[in-house]
Amino acid sequence: MTGTSGDPAGGALAEATPPADSGPTEADWAAAVAAVRALPPDGRVLLICHVNPDGDALGSMLGFGLGLRRLGVRQMQATFPGPPEVPESFRELPGLDLLVPATEAYADPELVICFDAASESRLGELADRLATAGGALVLDHHASNTRFGRVNLVDRHAAATSVVAEELLARLGVDLDAAIAECLYVALSTDTGSFRFEATTPAVHQLAARLLATGIRPGDISRRIFDTRPFGAVRLFGEVLGRARLEPAAAAGHGLVWTYATQDDLARHDQRPYVLEALIDSVRCTAEADVSCVVKQTATGDWAVSMRSKGAVDVSRVAVALGGGGHRFAAGFTGRGTVDEVVDRIRAELGGALTGPVRR
Ligand code: AMP
Ligand code: MN
Ligand code: MN
Repeated sequence: MTGTSGDPAGGALAEATPPADSGPTEADWAAAVAAVRALPPDGRVLLICHVNPDGDALGSMLGFGLGLRRLGVRQMQATFPGPPEVPESFRELPGLDLLVPATEAYADPELVICFDAASESRLGELADRLATAGGALVLDHHASNTRFGRVNLVDRHAAATSVVAEELLARLGVDLDAAIAECLYVALSTDTGSFRFEATTPAVHQLAARLLATGIRPGDISRRIFDTRPFGAVRLFGEVLGRARLEPAAAAGHGLVWTYATQDDLARHDQRPYVLEALIDSVRCTAEADVSCVVKQTATGDWAVSMRSKGAVDVSRVAVALGGGGHRFAAGFTGRGTVDEVVDRIRAELGGALTGPVRR
């Protein structure tokens, strides 16, 4: 494994500001390794991943944390903003003992390391640690990443943050074991949609092979994270999918399909909000629409919006225009007002986010 661009000497970090498109430089990797190696024996390390953590957020954070533990880091916490609730499907991840509620996170750790968060806002109430910590390291793969750390390992071409995490572990001399590998595999398979998305490069399969070689069981892991949900969630999905709307003329004729779920829907079926994360996969399969969208109520007048595209629209542009972020084909933002107001705003942005010529 090598970095993606040259500064083999690994020095002169201040001068090494790379163009936004390239991945971490050798100087960035060297600075990240140095930040970890410079920790005093009892240095406290705080790992933070984004709010409403998904498989990549939790998996890259916990896998990296287990690797740091192998290096001898003893004082370490992992956390994320908001309620300290881990989605059911991730409750067997190795390394969960590292997790603490955000309210108990170190106030001024020697080092803070952020995972899978494109901007400070994704760290919620924990964003202040960027200022209070001795050092701040960012591991991420969002094109929209704002480079809010003191050292930023951001590779927009990486399929998952776990790709970046694994390379840093390798550069720190940590060998993969089954526990680390399971975390990184969950992260990698989540963000590649089980190795189906475009980001599934030969390097992704090579990483998957290294992870599987530790003896982890992909069938069990996949069933747990993709193919298991409570019966109440199955019924809730039926109802929410039943109200989906198809708008063939939207996105300059490429089509939009969308639906929404309210807190009342969740309550009626006795379900937790995170079960809705899988809904987008049942909506985005609509043949007649390039863009799919699920609008999920998080509070009165507050909606977590998930968008996906098959290629005609860059949904990250829509998301960024509406205050969020993400990737070209998977992005999101926080919507305010009514569902109709939120969807109106999306419709209005779609035409300006086309990736190619307008279809006639
Ligand atoms: P999701 O639809 O929640 O799976 O998110 C898809 C992508 O959009 C992920 O890469 C997220 O990091 C990003 N994303 C989702 N919601 C937001 C938000 N409110 N702000 C910034 N990025 C977001
Ligand atoms: Mn994520
Ligand atoms: Mn990710």
